[in-house]
Amino acid sequence: MWSLALSDTCFDEEDAHVLSNVLESGWVSMGALTEKFERRFADFINVKHAIAVSNGTAALHLACESLNIGAGDEVIVPSLTFVATANAVLYAGATPVFADIQGARDLTIAPEAIENCISPRTKAIVVVHYAGYPCNMTAIMAIARRHNLHVIEDSAHAPGATHGTLNCGAIGDIGCFSFFANKNMTTAEGGMLTTNRTDLAQRIRCLRSHGMTSSTYDRHRGHAYSYDVTALGYNYRIDELRSALGLRQLGKLAQWNAQRRALWSYYRDALDDIDALAIPFRDHEGQGVHHIFPILLKHADCRPQFMSALKSHGIQTSIHYPPVHLFSYYRRTFGFRAGMLPNTEMAASREVTLPLYPGMEIEDIDRIRACIKKFFRNKRAVQPAMTGSVAGTLGTKGL
Ligand SMILES: *Cc1c(COP(=O)(O)O)cnc(C)c1O
Repeated sequence: MWSLALSDTCFDEEDAHVLSNVLESGWVSMGALTEKFERRFADFINVKHAIAVSNGTAALHLACESLNIGAGDEVIVPSLTFVATANAVLYAGATPVFADIQGARDLTIAPEAIENCISPRTKAIVVVHYAGYPCNMTAIMAIARRHNLHVIEDSAHAPGATHGTLNCGAIGDIGCFSFFANKNMTTAEGGMLTTNRTDLAQRIRCLRSHGMTSSTYDRHRGHAYSYDVTALGYNYRIDELRSALGLRQLGKLAQWNAQRRALWSYYRDALDDIDALAIPFRDHEGQGVHHIFPILLKHADCRPQFMSALKSHGIQTSIHYPPVHLFSYYRRTFGFRAGMLPNTEMAASREVTLPLYPGMEIEDIDRIRACIKKFFRNKRAVQPAMTGSVAGTLGTKGL
């Protein structure tokens, strides 16, 4: 269907070999490989503790629960994110409060917007390192300290991204990662929490498996005979197959992230002279991990034609994201309306995500550029009047 898909997985024969070894070993749920995966991931992010779970959403939910976020609490979240970021807050019984993004140049949550959302009930901030670009963590951590708030970093897009000397996922109280199929590294389904706080790590380990004080693996190794249940936990366990795959993927992540970076800078230069679009994060100083390649169209109303023009050439595109506060569930439950978050809504209505993954070729980007150029050339030929209004909507070139 697609000659150029939005993203691609990257497995090899050794992965298949490693998976079949796990099956042969006879121990398939959490065990030694999971412990090793957690240790390696903690070292990679440079934190004391990493706890593997079944997916990124489970990681976010456990992050909220372990920080005792619950009924009556408010948690500040961006709306320009995958719905799971906000859903996790609701699972914990708390209320998400949506803060706007910085603007067209930087699609991450705005520190000033966070500050404006703070109330006596605010307990935490969940930031999202959108597309793999770190949020302004210096300003956000200062706000959190000033108001005594917890910080959860939704780092689903950002394994390996750094902010100053720290890794995304090592800056706030807890980092949450996803290893879903389209992420920078994948275990098919999977997730990870990272933290430097030993108290939180213990609580998360307990909540991950039914609130039990010992695991099947502990008892298998003769470390325990029985167990107590000390909290209302969940089954958010990962398994040895996924952990084996995770170890393989983690070993290749740095190289893949470097490939993403090289493709990203080629892309940016290739699209830079097209006036009808803008490239968020184009002046980004380069510590992001380029999870996706978002562009903003100057005219929101041409997005469907733009996407179908690329589709007709076999090029898959997507939208990151329809804003969470405008989903019908959120509108119905909280009475949210369009106009609440101007920057988020501006970006969400114009955003198109172009293909980006490590195995992509420079020629693929050239082909995308040619298709985009052709689209806008044809559009100008049909609607010459449009050009006059281009500058008005998003300002001058580069926004
Ligand atoms: C993928 C993703 C999640 C959820 O991860 P799953 O592993 O699919 O549960 C959460 N937040 C963001 C920003 C994501 O991109």
